[in-house]
Amino acid sequence: MVCVSDLSNSDFNKQQSDDKTIAKSLSDCNKSISCVNFVALDCNNHATMNHKSSIALWHSKLGHPSDLVLKQILKKLNISCSSASFSWCDSCKLGKMHQLTFKRLSIQSKSPLALVYTDIWGTSPVISTTGHRYYISFVDDFTRFTWLYPIVLKSDALKVFLDFKKYVELQFQTRIRALQTDMGLEFQAFSSHLKQFGIAQRFSCAYTHQQNGVPERKHRNVVETSLTLLAHAKMPLKFWFDAFTSAVLVINNLPTPVLNGKSPFELLHNKKPNYAYFKTFDCASFPYFRPYSKQKFDFHSTKCVFIGYSSLHKGYKCLSPAGRVYISRNVLFHEFYFPYLELFPSSDSVSSLPGSTHLPSTDSGPSMSLTLNHTPMSPRLPVLNPEANSLDVVSPAVNTYTEVVPSNIIVDLRLPPVTKGPSSTYGMTTRSKTGSLRPKVYSALCQSPCLSPNLEPTNVKAALADPKWKQAMVEEYNALMRNNTWSLVPSTAVLESRAQLPRFTEPSVLKPELIFTPLSESHVQAAVICSKELGIHMRVRSGGHDFEGVSYVSIIESPFIVLDLTYLRSISVNINDNSAWVQVGATLGELYYRIAEKSNVHGFPAGICPTVGVGGHITGGGYGILLRKYGLAADNVIDAHIVDVNGRVLDRAAMGEDLFWAIRGGGGGSFGVILSWKIKLVAVPETVTVFTVFKTLEQGDTKLLYRWQQVADKLDKDLLIRVLMNVENTSTSERSVITAYDGFFLGGADRLVQLMQENFPELGKADFVNEPIPEIALEELRKRLLEEDDPVIMWTPYGGMMSKIPEYETPFPHRKGTMFKFHYITYWQKGDKNVPKHMN
Ligand SMILES: Cc1cc2nc3c(=O)[nH]c(=O)nc-3n(C[C@H](O)[C@H](O)[C@H](O)COP(=O)(O)OP(=O)(O)OC[C@H]3O[C@@H](n4cnc5c(N)ncnc54)[C@H](O)[C@@H]3O)c2cc1C
Repeated sequence: MVCVSDLSNSDFNKQQSDDKTIAKSLSDCNKSISCVNFVALDCNNHATMNHKSSIALWHSKLGHPSDLVLKQILKKLNISCSSASFSWCDSCKLGKMHQLTFKRLSIQSKSPLALVYTDIWGTSPVISTTGHRYYISFVDDFTRFTWLYPIVLKSDALKVFLDFKKYVELQFQTRIRALQTDMGLEFQAFSSHLKQFGIAQRFSCAYTHQQNGVPERKHRNVVETSLTLLAHAKMPLKFWFDAFTSAVLVINNLPTPVLNGKSPFELLHNKKPNYAYFKTFDCASFPYFRPYSKQKFDFHSTKCVFIGYSSLHKGYKCLSPAGRVYISRNVLFHEFYFPYLELFPSSDSVSSLPGSTHLPSTDSGPSMSLTLNHTPMSPRLPVLNPEANSLDVVSPAVNTYTEVVPSNIIVDLRLPPVTKGPSSTYGMTTRSKTGSLRPKVYSALCQSPCLSPNLEPTNVKAALADPKWKQAMVEEYNALMRNNTWSLVPSTAVLESRAQLPRFTEPSVLKPELIFTPLSESHVQAAVICSKELGIHMRVRSGGHDFEGVSYVSIIESPFIVLDLTYLRSISVNINDNSAWVQVGATLGELYYRIAEKSNVHGFPAGICPTVGVGGHITGGGYGILLRKYGLAADNVIDAHIVDVNGRVLDRAAMGEDLFWAIRGGGGGSFGVILSWKIKLVAVPETVTVFTVFKTLEQGDTKLLYRWQQVADKLDKDLLIRVLMNVENTSTSERSVITAYDGFFLGGADRLVQLMQENFPELGKADFVNEPIPEIALEELRKRLLEEDDPVIMWTPYGGMMSKIPEYETPFPHRKGTMFKFHYITYWQKGDKNVPKHMN
């Protein structure tokens, strides 16, 4: 049924010395192909595998190459073919359709690395599963071998180049002699380094992109092949980088007319590629799980989707239904079966309509759709896993994308706003489409001593000392203001806008150097990367309700900046699947309002105070009036997007279950910057009943409170009665403690009255007030309350769902056995005389 591949070291190192050996290994593989076809017939009742479909299978395995290239390989495999043997491939048309072919560019150099082209692709409208929006490629002119690296920001290009240089020069024992780029600003920053290494820097002229034709053709080839792979797979575009790396791997191993029928791999490594290990992207795969099994009865494998080859390990990457990526050398493949839609039916990016992939639309940009007319199960083939050194898509030495087990599916984020240009149905975004077209910089400018990258000042102070740099900065600043990119406001206003506790805004408390208020999620990524590079401590603030002010105060780590997420506050409620995505800057009140707009029988079990921020609230657990029925807010989170320390955006599958566990109650500000939560909505009845009963000492409150402690956590879980104790007549000598019993009931008054009579009749009895029973502790508490200016004690009962959720389920441990939460607050008037009493 399957082509079994065990990627042992010897397999990887096996060298195919001549065409004959290749033919043999391929014919071996063909035996398993026939076997695959046999079972496919059984299971799927498909047409008989014939010669034509065998050719189509090879076409799929090899990443949908042109007929010319395929013919060449088939010849090497001793598979006869004529033009009539090649069939129409829908996926190729979807992925590669274009108007004109490029003119072939001749090879200029005489040896590997004599001339390397580099270019950056992006911004991708869809963030990759690896958390990236760009990739940088390096193409060797002599061999046309391509290396691909994902990057988060364009400014990462230099660092990646330096790592790449170190890697290739060591591997191939020769030096890069010339590097050709376009005039992008990110490449101008290379100049001083290239000069130091003695590498000639060649810029293509402005507006003559043909001069950079080699990497641009490669980009196109890679993008088209990848789109074809994704189209065939019906996989969402967020897998673009997995598809890209697979495409480059295949392209590096395919013969090309530019190299007189040789492949880049062959020319670079001086040996023939081994096709025996290639597998069809996205086919069903079954990795061997035994080493990970917790117990003997665990299954030995699970059905996964094959998503390419690991760059770090000699193995295949298999995406499991739980969203984990397993990397294994022991994998069985079913290459006629493409289970992505079956395993991920509710994938965000794949429409429920058969054959179409839609990416979610957001306020900030248009939705992008890729509609696929998938042909029913065209023949697919088991493919080759290349030899170890043909896996150089991303070299270990410079890899910025770490595959771990388990790990690595990430998210679709918002699309960047498209302000200009026609809309596109495909995922390629150009600068003109995103409106980020920059005026071209002419090469003459580069020679100007004032702005030459070679003389670039190393810090702000040095730049400000140079009048020309200063002028450039002023111009940039004016442009930012003119375009409304920024609006400057007094820093104290921003700091205080969400600082709930005024004592932390006192002049004596250390202030942040900068408050950054991102407008988009990619700004958060940039902020994390920048603060990491600058080594400056960052505090994260959503609603600013932290009781210790730690979201905007830093005593230990100084200097520090504040990342204020006020503007990331969109809420998208999906009543159909009882869920909502809410960005962290939204308040609880906004969230409740948006849910209520759509339904009066849905709710979310979170806090009582409407101004609390969703971001910090859920990271701490989040309790409210629905906790006895549904637990904490954190218990009702089903996914999250977080920016990790490397600036990558991860969703639940990508961050892994441990981190997902930690962020739901483990406290904010520790594990990364949460961008948004996907929450589960809960059912509430149309009618709810609330009441408040006030009691004083004279009315027998001490006994009542004592009784409340015995029953509050055992009442029906639809009922929560919390207690608020505070001091009445605070400014007079008549001060006394008053207790309010606040009841919230999920149902009508009739049932509530019945429940109260059965379980807590004391609360409604007048005579009870007349029989005070001394309870020493409660009396002492009252005395202490009277000593404070304006105190409040909130008693929130637990029990119900809170006793059912095990204490290890989330980091919030107060579950079974906890009767109630006792929350002590005191207020005081602003003013010098009050501060020492409360602050010291
Ligand atoms: C008036 C008031 C009423 C309250 N009522 C309730 C209530 O009814 N129920 C309840 O459970 N709690 C309540 N709280 C407590 C409140 O839930 C917590 O203080 C919560 O952490 C506040 O979240 P925030 O986003 O508003 O605060 P912030 O001060 O912005 O953040 C709190 C903590 O979380 C971190 N953080 C914030 N955003 C992020 C993010 N996006 N990623 C990572 N870390 C982040 C911060 O760095 C900080 O450590 C109340 C607090 C106040 C002041």
